[in-house]
Amino acid sequence: MKYSSIKGMSDIMPSEISAWQKLESTALEVFGLYGYLEIRTPIVEKTDLFVRGIGSNTMVVEKEMYSFKDISDDMLSLRPEGTASVIRAYIESGAYQAEGIAKYVYIGPMFRRERPQKGRYRQFHQIGVEAIGLSDPLIDAEQIAMGDFFFKKLGLSDFTTEINSLGCKKCRPEYNKVFGEFLKTKHARLCADCQRRILTNPLRAFDCKNPDCIAAIKEAPLIGSHLCKECSDHFLSVQKRLNQLGTKFVVNHKIVRGLDYYMRTAFEYTTDKLGSQNAIAGGGRYDGLVHDLGGPNLPGVGFAIGMERVIMLMQASNLAAAAESDMVFFALLGETAREKAIPVINSLRQDGIKIELDYDGHSLKSQMRRADKMAAHTVVIIGDEEVAKGKAVIRNMRTKEQEEVNIGDLARHFVRIEV
Ligand code: AMP
Repeated sequence: MKYSSIKGMSDIMPSEISAWQKLESTALEVFGLYGYLEIRTPIVEKTDLFVRGIGSNTMVVEKEMYSFKDISDDMLSLRPEGTASVIRAYIESGAYQAEGIAKYVYIGPMFRRERPQKGRYRQFHQIGVEAIGLSDPLIDAEQIAMGDFFFKKLGLSDFTTEINSLGCKKCRPEYNKVFGEFLKTKHARLCADCQRRILTNPLRAFDCKNPDCIAAIKEAPLIGSHLCKECSDHFLSVQKRLNQLGTKFVVNHKIVRGLDYYMRTAFEYTTDKLGSQNAIAGGGRYDGLVHDLGGPNLPGVGFAIGMERVIMLMQASNLAAAAESDMVFFALLGETAREKAIPVINSLRQDGIKIELDYDGHSLKSQMRRADKMAAHTVVIIGDEEVAKGKAVIRNMRTKEQEEVNIGDLARHFVRIEV
């Protein structure tokens, strides 16, 4: 039986890993500059946490969660996103009593049973940030600017930072009604999902990728002119701060988020280089969520980056090249050579030099082939002849130059090339 991975879930092989590591280390470094600390939560939670947190009327909760009963009949789900878990951990740990304000960054796999296509998977990875306890629009703007800076720091420039306000409990229902009425006039032109949305959650129609729906709602009334005074002031203030931070953005009133908890600020980073799955990151403000999940009435704002999509964009911009190998290969011929080499290799590795060697007594030719395959920059050859002289041959694989050194001097030699 030959097994394959589950549809929509992929392996990340060593040949691809350097882009992932770069993304992760850059995120921890950049977000650390703004005070975000790493948090790690389990990938399985009670299903109810997501139903409450994300909203029962959302696609994610309705159709896309991997949920199952465990042996003691608890209903559990693989996390489809990170925010609900992070808020749960914040409340459960009592961090809100000790710290009040908290800034977290998380990295990890998320699971949604979507229809797989380019840029959309069933297991995908996100880097996310959450700032809890802050209501001033400065934090919204700072987070948006931080995301923008993060992408630039990776070398990306093919993206647009788009912002919107989704209103609040006071003004959004009013707008929903107006927009719902508008959708009714287009009923016949809408897909079945959007027809259903008229009753459940009209705003979601803006998320629909169906070209007929996009055309039908092109002239729809927009939320921008239906915001209450507080929401409008908040939104203007976010824009003022973004200008002070020097972050370029566009206002797009058609940005709605797929998760119910967002209110006021919503934002996305989009690109035209990836086809229809064009959002590389998105987030917004979620002031009611901490309370809804059993905590105090504290505001919050956060966003999540889709790592697969960012890596695709890095590849499209030639920024995802594999790091040059820094491996040294020891080609050893015969038992005496091994005996001499083993302690040298051991101490070199402990000095921080990456070494691979032949374990199986292959011919020199086949050992050199392996060294080539792993792109070793240097090969150390110790054969019978060398052993007899107490020497090793050091071959520079790029220039093909060789030099003979005393086995006892190998450590010094590598420490020398390291500096
Ligand atoms: P969300 O958690 O839905 O707000 O999404 C945040 C970001 O995660 C999106 O902008 C995408 O970049 C990424 N994302 C969401 N769903 C998927 C998926 N199924 N496959 C790959 N990336 C995704």
